[in-house]
Amino acid sequence: MKPSRYRALLVDMDGVLWRGQEPIEENLKVLRALDLPMVFLTNNSTTTRARYLERLRALGLEVPETHVLTSGYAAALWLKRRGILKTFVIGEEGITQELELLGIRYETDPDAVLQRGYQPEAVVVGLDRRLSYAKLWAGQRSIQKGALFVATNTDATYPTETGPAPGAGAVVSALQTAAGREPHIVIGKPQPQMFRLALEILKVEPEQALMIGDRWDTDIVGARRLKIPALLVLTGVTSADEVPSGTEGVTVVQNLSRWLQGPA
Ligand SMILES: [Mg+2]
Repeated sequence: MKPSRYRALLVDMDGVLWRGQEPIEENLKVLRALDLPMVFLTNNSTTTRARYLERLRALGLEVPETHVLTSGYAAALWLKRRGILKTFVIGEEGITQELELLGIRYETDPDAVLQRGYQPEAVVVGLDRRLSYAKLWAGQRSIQKGALFVATNTDATYPTETGPAPGAGAVVSALQTAAGREPHIVIGKPQPQMFRLALEILKVEPEQALMIGDRWDTDIVGARRLKIPALLVLTGVTSADEVPSGTEGVTVVQNLSRWLQGPA
């Protein structure tokens, strides 16, 4: 299970490269030294790809900008490929800026829908720390009039310095309840969309890639559904006693430095 067995890496960011503001050096130094193409991916839809790219480069990882994927960008690309150009967003700049870069119109003001007759083709939903009743109402009305319901991810919580805070999944659930239907698509891990996009960018088959992540139920479960080999690092969310036994295609290591030192 050594790096030389793979042609490319898919690397989760939070819990692999950093915890909050703190870099995880045992993992970073290995990634800096490996001569393999890598795509970095995250379910986080609040931050743009450009900001992640800055952060990666500041940590010494030389990454082309095409090799950074967020669920906000992947959602925008999914819409673009379907010719959808008019949206309502319940979310933050990690969604709106990616839509704008792909030439997709968006509204975030619920009055556009509730009072001015704006009818989007899709409602794009992620974590929105300015969520309001009016936004939920505008999303519900749009979906009931035929707009697609696109969820960037359904993570229940996300980690903060003071403990878990409500994640995009909490926002998606509220809208799902009001609209009376599930999302037409969920973009983020463990759903296949972002993994497929990463393989497409890297031009490799699933068996030729390795997914490195810290979260069992998203990174590892999602990778294995597509038959991508997976490496769980215990530097983030999932701890050793939470790992199910005997899962084929998965290796568990303390961190990437230990991975390199371990048996072939
Ligand atoms: Mg993570």
